[in-house]
Amino acid sequence: MNQDKIDLYGPLKKYFGFNKFKGLQEGVVRSIAEGNDTFVIMPTGGGKSLCYQLPALMKEGTAIVVSPLIALMKNQVDAIRGISEHQGVAHVLNSSLNKTEINRVKSDIENGITKLLYVAPESLTKDEYVDFLKEQNISFFAIDEAHCISEWGHDFRPEYRNLRKIIERIGNVPIIGLTATATPKVQEDIIKTLGMNNANTFKASFNRPNLFYEVKPKTKDVVADIIRFIKQRPGKSGVIYCLSRKKVEELAQTLQVNGISALPYHAGLDAKSRSKHQDMFLMEDVDVIVATIAFGMGIDKPDVRFVIHHDIPKSLESYYQETGRAGRDDGEGYCLAFYAYKDIEKLEKFMANKPVSEQELGHALLQEVVGYAETSISRRQYLLHYFGEEFDPVNGLGAKMDDNTKNPKKKTEATDCVVKLLKV
Ligand code: ADP
Ligand code: MG
Repeated sequence: MNQDKIDLYGPLKKYFGFNKFKGLQEGVVRSIAEGNDTFVIMPTGGGKSLCYQLPALMKEGTAIVVSPLIALMKNQVDAIRGISEHQGVAHVLNSSLNKTEINRVKSDIENGITKLLYVAPESLTKDEYVDFLKEQNISFFAIDEAHCISEWGHDFRPEYRNLRKIIERIGNVPIIGLTATATPKVQEDIIKTLGMNNANTFKASFNRPNLFYEVKPKTKDVVADIIRFIKQRPGKSGVIYCLSRKKVEELAQTLQVNGISALPYHAGLDAKSRSKHQDMFLMEDVDVIVATIAFGMGIDKPDVRFVIHHDIPKSLESYYQETGRAGRDDGEGYCLAFYAYKDIEKLEKFMANKPVSEQELGHALLQEVVGYAETSISRRQYLLHYFGEEFDPVNGLGAKMDDNTKNPKKKTEATDCVVKLLKV
């Protein structure tokens, strides 16, 4: 191995125009540039893409990037093409390409022009592609959204489970796994399934010190509570999550009737309305989006000031992701969840027709949600503990930024819950 440290700042400036790395990026990029298996756990918005894009651009050969969503791949390819003089520097390989396009991709790879090849995991199962890639100079494999490998993650994709075998067929090259999912169970699953026991692991903190967490009992006045909350924040952007499309429509209408600028968003709307409502939110033509979980993937609005959960989500993982859309600019972000045990029972009922193993899993995840909603210790501490991270509720960053530590309950009650939490 070359003893001199590889220069990373030159390429960082050249390709991305940045002067500094963000968070743990430098160590990650160095690890990959030096050819090590590398496991990266960083919250959404942490800058994971650059972690593999930069070393891919620096290295000989083509890096293969596995990603679950075609739309996200296309965005990334466009962005990379924007910084290079050659269109072929990045390509997507998928089923929508015709013969000519596929040949173009292949020749760019053969000629060493393509530095990043994005593929959906299902495309990688095709023998035709595997046989071709096997003959090429592959710099490394990056598995983005690596939690898709795990049934414990919030977005399980069965095709991800075969990746290790396919990678082995293509060649003995370093593997990079990246995820925003921090639960220890999912991490173990990723390491095991991708065979990354000896990987350099980089885990960023999941603490979001600028977010305030509150849980309120959900009563029949929940809608009035929401209206009051919003009216105290005129002109501020916010998202309200509901479980069902019907509730989304109803609530959006009620808000409108009450003079709040709000629009619905759910998968039942046609694509045109969906993208119109989303754009209006991004352009600040509307203050509030009432949505199902269909809303949010890849949305990067920096000044969302509140996220309200009209219905509690089915896991703390989802809760963290959804509340994480508030305060991206490090400004105020208020996360208010309405909780009634009845809603947990409803979620349990939804699972009744699923296989037993799935029910057990869903039940375990829900119990964590109950624990969070009913705890009287610092909510931040509870949430971070769930992600395998310790938090000092007195001196930690973001201490006192939740209902429980701001207005502590009786001492005995609180001690009880600490004991319970530590046993988890
Ligand atoms: P993730 O995949 O972790 O959610 P992204 O890769 O999408 O995050 O990056 C989030 C944002 O951070 C992007 O807008 C990206 O341009 C920006 N970013 C990444 N690295 C840097 C850096 N070193 N300096 C400044 N901005 C950065
Ligand atoms: Mg990403």
